[in-house]
Amino acid sequence: MARGDGRLTHETFPEERGPQDECGVFGVWAPGEDVSRLTYFGIYALQHRGQESAGIATSNGEQILIYKDMGLVSQVFDDRALESLRGHIAVGHTRYSTTGSSEWINAQPTLGPTAAGTVALAHNGNLTNTADLVAWVREISGQDLTGEMGRGSSSDTAVVTALLGAIGGEDEPLEDLAMRLFPHLEGAFSLVFMDEGSLYAARDRHGIRPLVLGRLEKGWVVASETAALDIVGATYVREVEPGEMIVIDAAGMRSHRFAEATPRGCVFEYVYLARPDTKIADVPVNAARTEMGRVLAREAPAEADLVIPTPESGTPAAIGYAQESGIPFAQGLVKNSYVGRTFIQPTDTIRQLGIRLKLNPLREVIAGQRLVVIDDSIVRGNTQRALVRMLREAGAAEVHVRISSPPVQWPCFYGIDFATRAELLANGMSVEEIRDNLGADSLSYISVEGMVAATTVPEDRLCTACFTGNYPIPRERVQADPTSAHPAPAQIPPPALTATGSEARR
Ligand code: SF4
Repeated sequence: MARGDGRLTHETFPEERGPQDECGVFGVWAPGEDVSRLTYFGIYALQHRGQESAGIATSNGEQILIYKDMGLVSQVFDDRALESLRGHIAVGHTRYSTTGSSEWINAQPTLGPTAAGTVALAHNGNLTNTADLVAWVREISGQDLTGEMGRGSSSDTAVVTALLGAIGGEDEPLEDLAMRLFPHLEGAFSLVFMDEGSLYAARDRHGIRPLVLGRLEKGWVVASETAALDIVGATYVREVEPGEMIVIDAAGMRSHRFAEATPRGCVFEYVYLARPDTKIADVPVNAARTEMGRVLAREAPAEADLVIPTPESGTPAAIGYAQESGIPFAQGLVKNSYVGRTFIQPTDTIRQLGIRLKLNPLREVIAGQRLVVIDDSIVRGNTQRALVRMLREAGAAEVHVRISSPPVQWPCFYGIDFATRAELLANGMSVEEIRDNLGADSLSYISVEGMVAATTVPEDRLCTACFTGNYPIPRERVQADPTSAHPAPAQIPPPALTATGSEARR
């Protein structure tokens, strides 16, 4: 099954695909607990962050075992697979591919040798200097590549794993290797990794993707989202700070700083990506989305009878819009939550029904009503166009579309796969032209200021680049991905870091 860019996909309707987060990561250190089962439920709670592959690695203190495959968490693991993963440390991952194709070799955690043992590594985000890093690995290793990069993996995660293997001096512990390497990684990375004896978590200096620390009665948990802590009964402790690496082992938990923190958390996590029952920077995502709806109602009122959400992600903002406007809230659409991704492609007849496979209107609610339809974002516009048509066919008198994020106009280099710029509906079109394209009676987006205010996070601590073009990492520093189909970038000298030797150690 191919996407427009030639990569494999298992989506039912790739052309209606929303923004995709790259991955969810989870790790646990808990002697005496069934860590593989805890990790299974942890990544199960993070399934929305990646649905192409899933994997778990465990360690019993002496040996790392790993099991990963293509598919949803529930498709990849069964009791037998989990029983085989014994130990007291585990790292888990759910993946959506943006760097590296969707195939088994790129599934995570990645595994590789280091100077003092083995590393299993899981990554959420996207590195923007992968070309430098690949050049660096090749400078040290030549053709003698280690880890999964040596076995043909093309993901930026495999490049980091290979560097952890390549740069080590004799018996140099992973803790030191990571502290030497991470200042040289650019872009977004929330990493959870382990060796035979310790669990590690690290977050890039901007903290673009979320990563949190939790406490079990007899152990520790790290996860992309607080919702994954809740599901395993862990208590939220704090965020892993931007530029921080934490290490957890028998000696307890210790923290190291590898870069000065300059926080720029992804605003789109609040808009759409994260689960509504997650907290980011201590802000409940559901509360931020509801407030976005209230702001939208003030900024873009409508004469209407009902406010309906595009389920599920539009629901909190629709509730906020209804509360602020006084227009009654109603569920006018029913969603089949299981349809988004399938390994069975629909027949042409079913494909023509398109959106019906995902959303079906409640005619008795909609007929004769002037509707405000709330959605979180418009990417290509295919879903909203089909939705407006479907609502009119179901008898809606008027359809007013309100979007709880501003127009997406710029690409994301930090781990979110929007459409290409040419595919973005807002690219080069006015709001009125987009309204006309969708066939709606009116269309409005929330303002950037309104969206940011709803998060309660100061604007200078957020990334808003896909809406504003204001990138936390200057665009000229973003390198073409050498593992993608794009032309190879000009050779850039590798970072000035000694590959081995005591002067490079901390
Ligand atoms: S560009 Fe957009 S999606 Fe990407 S990190 Fe920034 S706010 Fe998030």
